[in-house]
Amino acid sequence: MGAKTRTDTIAAPSTGDAKTAKSNKITVVRDVESLRVHTRAWRKNGETIGLIPTMGALHEGHLSLVQAALRDCDRAIATIFVNPAQFAPTEDFEAYPRDEADDIAKLDRMKTDLLFAPDVAEMYADGFSTSVTVSGITAGLCGASRPHFFGGVATVVNKLFMQSLPDRAYFGEKDYQQLQVIRRMVRDLDIPVQVVGVPTVREKDGLAMSSRNWYLTPEERATAPLLHQTLQETAAAVAAGEACADAIARGRATLDKAGFARIDYLAICDAETLAPLDIVDRPARALVAAVLGSTRLIDNIPVPPRP
Ligand code: AMP
Repeated sequence: MGAKTRTDTIAAPSTGDAKTAKSNKITVVRDVESLRVHTRAWRKNGETIGLIPTMGALHEGHLSLVQAALRDCDRAIATIFVNPAQFAPTEDFEAYPRDEADDIAKLDRMKTDLLFAPDVAEMYADGFSTSVTVSGITAGLCGASRPHFFGGVATVVNKLFMQSLPDRAYFGEKDYQQLQVIRRMVRDLDIPVQVVGVPTVREKDGLAMSSRNWYLTPEERATAPLLHQTLQETAAAVAAGEACADAIARGRATLDKAGFARIDYLAICDAETLAPLDIVDRPARALVAAVLGSTRLIDNIPVPPRP
């Protein structure tokens, strides 16, 4: 371990039978060198590692990813890094919700093995000049209104993979385009990580859980579940054979009328390539992004098979 190493909580890397040898407290590390001390020891011991990348402000959606990793792997590493490279200057990087103490408590309760929470300087050293670009699948949907976004995501996820060398990595279907972009990147670059998609966790009224839901006023929060309802109606209509353009026009009108300030997209796409469809004749996904007040919300669901 070099002088630069920073480990907040605890302990030499625990090894042995992972199921019995877990330490009581989560280990928090902030630099790559300390992270590798732990992952090297686990790997040497034949233990598998699951990685859960997040931007913090953890809710039950994030925790379902942790749960899946703990179920499948001997060791689970959560990461918290609010990645400046995936925010445009006009977006909410500074204002993005952060509550690390609460996040650590939640991860600790779940018996997550380790939290990697680097600062910006640790991830982007002076002179950082490399980026990972995934083409095609990033052109539409969120890529159209946030052109910087997927480059930032692909680069940082690649770094997290290289830093921790996990066996599996867990991503939410809530960010469906991101999940497909990462799958594409892993295939294209022969990255030896199994990407696991985890279903979206929702509030009782159907709103997809999101750290950005914190921004909503009570009135906006009452309107927000309409996104999921509109997705369900649109998906049901196209599954029944309606042309996608007609069902989408109706869905957009519903959101417009409810007061959404901007609809970035409401789309029916091929479930893998995310190419827009005219009619549904293969596995498909209904996806939406819309702004409520000043909060941009996204959601998606599978289009059910034809009745
Ligand atoms: P974020 O912190 O927003 O970058 O999200 C970190 C990971 O948690 C991503 O893989 C997201 O897709 C996933 N995630 C966020 N919200 C949910 C949710 N409601 N259900 C399942 N996964 C989620």
